[in-house]
Amino acid sequence: MDSVSFPYDAPVSQTLFDRASLVTPGGVNSPVRAFRAVGGTPRFMVSGTGPYLTDADGREYVDLVCSWGPMILGHAHPEVTAAVQDAVARGTSFGTPGEGEVALAEEIVARVAPVEQVRLVSSGTEATMSAIRLARGFTGRAKVIKFAGCYHGHVDALLAAAGSGVATFGLPDTPGVTGAQAGDTIVLPYNDADAVRAAFRAHPGEIACVITEASPGNMGVVPPLPGFNQSLKDVCAENGALYISDEVMTGFRTSKAGWFGVDGVVPDLMTFGKVMGGGFPAAAFGGRADVMGHLAPAGPVYQAGTLSGNPVATAAGLAQLRLLDDAAYEKVDAVSEAVRGLVTDALAKEGVAHRLQSASNMFSVFFTEGEVRDYEDAKRQEAFRFNAFFHSMLSQGVYLPPSAFESWFVSTAHDDAAVERIAAALPAAARAAAEATA
Ligand code: PLP
Repeated sequence: MDSVSFPYDAPVSQTLFDRASLVTPGGVNSPVRAFRAVGGTPRFMVSGTGPYLTDADGREYVDLVCSWGPMILGHAHPEVTAAVQDAVARGTSFGTPGEGEVALAEEIVARVAPVEQVRLVSSGTEATMSAIRLARGFTGRAKVIKFAGCYHGHVDALLAAAGSGVATFGLPDTPGVTGAQAGDTIVLPYNDADAVRAAFRAHPGEIACVITEASPGNMGVVPPLPGFNQSLKDVCAENGALYISDEVMTGFRTSKAGWFGVDGVVPDLMTFGKVMGGGFPAAAFGGRADVMGHLAPAGPVYQAGTLSGNPVATAAGLAQLRLLDDAAYEKVDAVSEAVRGLVTDALAKEGVAHRLQSASNMFSVFFTEGEVRDYEDAKRQEAFRFNAFFHSMLSQGVYLPPSAFESWFVSTAHDDAAVERIAAALPAAARAAAEATA
């Protein structure tokens, strides 16, 4: 990071960050928003329109984070905004059932065949936490298999060897999670089907579920090897365990039916968030009706939420999902392909060893050679090159995830002008990556 310079000073963001640091730990409300991994001061954004964000210093950026996935139609899409305004005007929370919840649940069930019933919650963390509880309640078993580098939110039992911020900051595990909370979690290397079978042999009748990102994006983009997800489904079915596919990131992004729409492997339970909330706190878990029927009030497994199915959030999510037709996914896929091509060309031109990996329209760059199949491979990359690359892009008005271990996201709003701005910034960024030293 020594070789990284910060050509843009951002005085207003700096002042806001100083104020924030006094009243909020680390100055941010979610660790990945901080620039600790890449250095410098996080930019405080004041507005977003289409593919652009504007910061408090008045600088505009092409946004390749898209709020970490949700903004697949770009910022302030007029139809989503209108749906939100309409919902707000009718009242913001009732604590009763409402039609918007039904319509959003119906939309999810219609799109994703394995989801027979769905329960709405407010965050992806709640969705995975609740799905794990339900799997344990349904099977009467305690143990959970997860994979190193997969992030499922900050659920106590799932923070072991997690991706996203945990990977970004190289945290082995987190204080505050007791042995009892994590003791039933078995962490295995991603893409290693043999390790999963061995774990089932070692713990007969004890494993409630396997939870995996449908296609991981939280250690950078590391797609499942062909047959890996099916092998998880099979080993769960053979052993009376549930297969939980975490589609919080991939859901309604990688296709109309998320990653299920790509690989067709049928999970017992699935989790969703991000895109389905249209930029508001809405998430969900769902799946087999016989399993979901164990949830309160239909069954004994308790789960609840004051703001679950909030009318504003469901209106935003529904408006966004209804706009996401085949043409929208074709557009996002095409933008992704164009940007991927530009990035890899620029890096190749400067002789920077890298590996660009994608899963449908999600993608990321690893500064390493050879395929990245798991978290160990991902950690071998030269992250210092990413840091130099990141700051060069930032200084030229392109906002990347401030971490080498995160997916990049594009939207239907990334038009030719936005892609051209990215193209114009890449040569200098690639040079900065080439010249960076550890
Ligand atoms: N699962 C996956 C795959 C995620 O990527 C995330 C967040 O990035 C979560 C769960 C947690 O979602 P949230 O941040 O809404 O709690």
